[in-house]
Amino acid sequence: MIAWEKNIRRVTPYTPGEQPDCPNMIKLNTNENPYPPAPGVTKALQELDAGRLRRYPDPAAGMLVQALADYYGVAKEQVFVGVGSDDVLAMSFLTFFNSGKPVLFPDITYSFYDVWAELFGIPYECPKLNDEFQIRTEDYIRECGGIVIPNPNAPTGIEKNLEELEEVIAANPEVIVIIDEAYIDFGGTSALSLLPKYENLLVVQTFSKSRSLAGMRIGFAIGNERLIGYLNDAKYSFNSYTMSAAALAAGTEAIKDDTYFRETLQKIINTREWTKKELRRLGFSCLDSKSNFIFASHPKRPARELFEALKQADIYVRYFNKPRINNYLRISIGTDQEMVGLIHFLERYLGENV
Ligand code: PMP
Repeated sequence: MIAWEKNIRRVTPYTPGEQPDCPNMIKLNTNENPYPPAPGVTKALQELDAGRLRRYPDPAAGMLVQALADYYGVAKEQVFVGVGSDDVLAMSFLTFFNSGKPVLFPDITYSFYDVWAELFGIPYECPKLNDEFQIRTEDYIRECGGIVIPNPNAPTGIEKNLEELEEVIAANPEVIVIIDEAYIDFGGTSALSLLPKYENLLVVQTFSKSRSLAGMRIGFAIGNERLIGYLNDAKYSFNSYTMSAAALAAGTEAIKDDTYFRETLQKIINTREWTKKELRRLGFSCLDSKSNFIFASHPKRPARELFEALKQADIYVRYFNKPRINNYLRISIGTDQEMVGLIHFLERYLGENV
């Protein structure tokens, strides 16, 4: 080891999905939205005055925060924005999980949670999903340092109902319960309605999936004013200007166009249900997804083999080589045409390789 290396903070980083750039690929590996952002977003970006970029953006991100507050019917003091929900979640781990007791999140879930816990030295425990890949309420009713529940969960896509979530939130008044709703707009029921009742609840959402802005990096949290105040204190101790002028303009326009938002969501939900039916016709078993992806497994062909075969054909899906889920593919929902391409490939491949 080189002398200075002994003083380095070593971490095992999160591995993001590949971002290949082939001309005719079908990219279904990072749960991006296949449709462009609302037309107003393009217009706002075109009208962005480069001359103004010499100035710092509004550190409070006032325009975007106000648009979100108006849309969700909360006070602007209840809204926190960050550079994708990854940034919001990382800040939340840093701010709220400070008791020294273990934070709880499921064993099969978004694989960034344990990375942040390790980075910040937060102890954690991961209760096992049951055999149907569901989060068991009883595992989260115990003394702990905080709770993170993604709803719907990733990569399963399974939603936990609001009554069960409320049980968890109500049973843990001494710690913060974060509900990560990255995929909630695709048919789930948000925990936002519980906010007036529970001061320990923080709901985190993103513009990356349902609002087609993964490339702009915008995420947000809504909670009670005191919680959001603490989150802002941490943010201002780290980086005051998290949201670029472009992100503020694009995000605000995306929120304003509710008609486009709802139309796009409905298209994706319809395509998801069609894809599920087709995958089942080909012998796959699919979990009941309320998100913009499907978690699927084939009884005859190993997921790893299918993943490689699809990749050879420039069809990218996600494969996790982890216990219990290493025979599943996570397939993001693309356009109808892309999903037809996927199904045709699988039909041919499975037909030729029985
Ligand atoms: N939470 C979950 C469950 C996710 O799957 C993702 C996307 N990888 C995120 C949060 C973060 O998304 P973003 O930073 O793009 O908002």
